[in-house]
Amino acid sequence: MYRHYCWQLQQVANPPDRAKDDSSVGAKNGQLSRAGSLTVLRRTNSKSKLASSSSSRTSSIAESDSYASVDLGTDKLPPIDTPEASHVCSIRLRNILRRIQNGEVPKEDLYKNLEYAASVLESVYVDETRRLTDEDDELSEVEPDAVPTEVRDWLALTFTRSMNNVRRRGQEKPKFRSVAHAIRAGIMVDRIYRRLSSSSTLHIPPAVLQLLKGMDDWSFDVFALNSAADGHSLKYVGYELLQKYDLVTKYKINSSMLDSFLLQLEAGYSKYKNPYHNLVHGADVTQTVHNILSQSKLAHWLTDLEVFATIVAALIHDFEHTGTTNNFHIQTGSEFALLYNDKAVLENHHICASFRIMRSEESNILNHLSREEYREFRALVIEMVLATDMSFHFQQLKNMKNLLGMPENIDKQKALSLVLHCADISHPAKDWSLHHRWTNQLLEEFFKQGDREQELGLPISPLCDREKTLVAESQIGFIDFIVDPSFTVMTEMLEKILTPLQKAARSEEAISEEVFDKSDKSKYVLSTPWADCLAINKNKWKEQAAKDAEERKRKEAEEKSKVPNSNTNNNTTKAPVPADKATPVVNCSTGKGGN
Ligand code: 5GP
Ligand code: MN
Repeated sequence: MYRHYCWQLQQVANPPDRAKDDSSVGAKNGQLSRAGSLTVLRRTNSKSKLASSSSSRTSSIAESDSYASVDLGTDKLPPIDTPEASHVCSIRLRNILRRIQNGEVPKEDLYKNLEYAASVLESVYVDETRRLTDEDDELSEVEPDAVPTEVRDWLALTFTRSMNNVRRRGQEKPKFRSVAHAIRAGIMVDRIYRRLSSSSTLHIPPAVLQLLKGMDDWSFDVFALNSAADGHSLKYVGYELLQKYDLVTKYKINSSMLDSFLLQLEAGYSKYKNPYHNLVHGADVTQTVHNILSQSKLAHWLTDLEVFATIVAALIHDFEHTGTTNNFHIQTGSEFALLYNDKAVLENHHICASFRIMRSEESNILNHLSREEYREFRALVIEMVLATDMSFHFQQLKNMKNLLGMPENIDKQKALSLVLHCADISHPAKDWSLHHRWTNQLLEEFFKQGDREQELGLPISPLCDREKTLVAESQIGFIDFIVDPSFTVMTEMLEKILTPLQKAARSEEAISEEVFDKSDKSKYVLSTPWADCLAINKNKWKEQAAKDAEERKRKEAEEKSKVPNSNTNNNTTKAPVPADKATPVVNCSTGKGGN
C-alpha cells in the first residue's frame, strides 16, 4: 500500500512524460521504475507537494494540464494484479476527474476505466486481506525479486510454517490458462477412472467386488462392505481408490507394500477397539471424500499428486485414535498431550504414526516419489489432517467464507482440507440408517470416556454422561450449527472453483462433451444429495426429541407417585437411541424405504 501511495504521490509531483504513455509504464520496465520512483520521491520535497495535494486536491488536479493528454483506451492495460496497474489507475482516474470538470469524458471510456480501476482495487484488497487472514503468507510482503531465491527459501523455512506453501502459492496464482490443461487431465482421470481394477493383484471376494461398484454413491453402505469384507473395509476402499485413480501405476506402488500399508493402517485403527473411531470410519470418510471429488468433478482441478495426497490423508486421518478426545488427553496429561504440547494432539499423532509406516521398508508406498513430490505430498497430507481438528472448525469456515468473497482462485490446500473436514462429519448427511448407526457408535465411545472420567474423578465432558445426555437434541444442534454450515460453505466453494472450469470447457467444444454436460447454465450447479438427508435426519431427531421428552415426563410422574417427597432428578436422559423401528427409514437419495 505504501508503494502505491508513493507512486501516486510522484505522479502528482511530477506528472508530465510518463502520463502520456501510461499503459506502457509497467510493461516496459516495471521493476526499475518502481525502485526509482521510491528513491527519488523520498529525496525530493514531495512531502510538501503531498500536503498541498491532499488539502486542495481538486485545484492541484486542475492546475496540471498534462492529465488532459492521457489516452483512456483500454486495449493495452497492465494486468490488474501488478503494481503498474495501480499506477496506471491513479493517472487515469485523475485524468477522468479533470475531464469531468470540463464535461468531456465519453461514457464508454468512463465505464471501461472505472471497471478496470475497480478490478485493480479488488486485487489490492485481496492481497491485503490475504495477508491479514493467512498466517502462512507473511512472505507475500517480500517482492519475489527483492531477495535471492535462497534467502527467500531460508525466510520461508525459518519464519513460516511451511516452505512448500510459499513456493506453491507463487506458482499457483490464478491461471485461467491452465484450465484447458486441467480439463484434459480431467478427461484422462475420467477415462482411467472408468477402468476396472484389472491390474489388481489383490484377491477381491465377489461380494466385495459387487459392493465396491457402489463406491460413487453418496449413501454408500460402508457397514455392508465391512461385513462382506470380513472386517477389512478400509483395505478394500484404499486399494480400490488408488487403482481407480491410476495412482498405483503412476507412482509405481509395489502391491505387497500397498497390502502391508493398508493392513497396518487397519491394525492401527483397531488398536483401541473404538466403537466409532475405527477402520470402518476411516473407510467411510475416504469413500465420502472420493464421492465429493468425483461427483463434483473437483478431481479435474487437481494433479495426480494432489488426488493421491487427498486419498491417503482420508485413509490415515484417524489412525490409532484412542477413542478419547483431545481434551481428555490434555486433562489427563497423556503421553500424546505431552509430546504435542496440547496442540492438535490426536491429529499430530495420526499423521506422525502413519508417516512412520509409510517410511518403513515393507510399507513404503511413497518410495517412487521424487524428493519434491514427497515434500509436496507430505505438506498436503499434514495440512489436511491437522484441519480435521475440530477446534479449527469455526476458524476454517470463516477463512473459507472470506476467500469466497474475493475474486481470486481458492487455495487448493484449503479447499481439500474443507472437503476432508466435511467428509469427516458427513454421516448426519447420509441415509438415516447409516447416520443412526454412526450416532449410536459415537455416543457409546463418548460414554466410555465419560465412565473413565468418572473413575478418574474428573468432571464428565459434555455429551459423555450416559445417564444425562440428550442425544436427539445434541444431534439437532450438531446438524444445525456444525454440519449444515460446513456443507453450505463447501457447496459454495465447489461452485466457485468449478464454474470457470465449466465455462472453459464450454469454450472448448470437443472437450466439453466429455467432461461437462452442455446444458445452458452459466453457473456450475453442484448436485447436493446431502441437503435432503440433513433435512430428513433433523426431522427424525426432532420427532425423537419429542418422544424422549414425553418419556421423561412419564418417568418423572412415575417416580413422584412412588416416593411422594422425593427430590430425585432424573429428568435429563438418556443413552443412545434404540434402533428406530417406530419411524420408517427413508433413503435420502432415492426416497425409497428400507433399512
Ligand atoms: P474425528 O474425531 O472423526 O476426526 O472428527 C469428527 C468429530 O466430529 C468427532 O470427534 C465428534 O466430535 C464430531 N462428531 C462427528 N459425528 C458426530 C455426531 O453425530 N454428533 C456429535 N455430537 N458430534 C459428532
Ligand atoms: Mn474422523
